[in-house]
Amino acid sequence: MRKLIIIAGHNGKGTGAPDRHGLDEGAETMALRDCFVDWLRIKYPQIEVATDRGRDNLTLAGGLLKWLKSFVKKSNICIDLHFNSSANEQATGAEVVVPDKYSMFEFGNAKKLAAKIAEILQIKNRGVKIEIQSALGKLAMLSEFDCENFLIEFAFTSNAKDVENYKKYKPELIAGLGEYFAKMALETKN
Ligand SMILES: [Zn+2]
Repeated sequence: MRKLIIIAGHNGKGTGAPDRHGLDEGAETMALRDCFVDWLRIKYPQIEVATDRGRDNLTLAGGLLKWLKSFVKKSNICIDLHFNSSANEQATGAEVVVPDKYSMFEFGNAKKLAAKIAEILQIKNRGVKIEIQSALGKLAMLSEFDCENFLIEFAFTSNAKDVENYKKYKPELIAGLGEYFAKMALETKN
């Protein structure tokens, strides 16, 4: 069984993409993380879930990576939760970013995750991106430690319809993706 690591991409209101349609990335990534972690611990108590919850003062610069590196193993699955944002209010959809040197596990599951999120939220499937195609080009959460790494951009906070659908289908998203995370953890023995 693989250990799941569920991380909020930001740590509190105002630390991520700005709130343009009633969704603040910094606050929502933490709330969503808590939903996934609680759901997994109730439905699949046999799966080990590590999370930055309770360590919310740990930013990328302030110890998060150090904490992760202290226990992470190659077989672990790390899922970093984010929302996208664009100056173009029409930009829409879900995408999953994997490391430039992705494994087949990462690429295959990222493809399915992006499709699943798009289906549940009824928004565009933007598919899989590799790190170098992301806005920053290099992402510490994908390249600074080696396990099965996924960075999820659920929807655009800058798109009114994306935000509306995310809020509307959030329960389905938690259950649907929670099941998929559990499947990834349980499928491969280590
Ligand atoms: Zn983000």
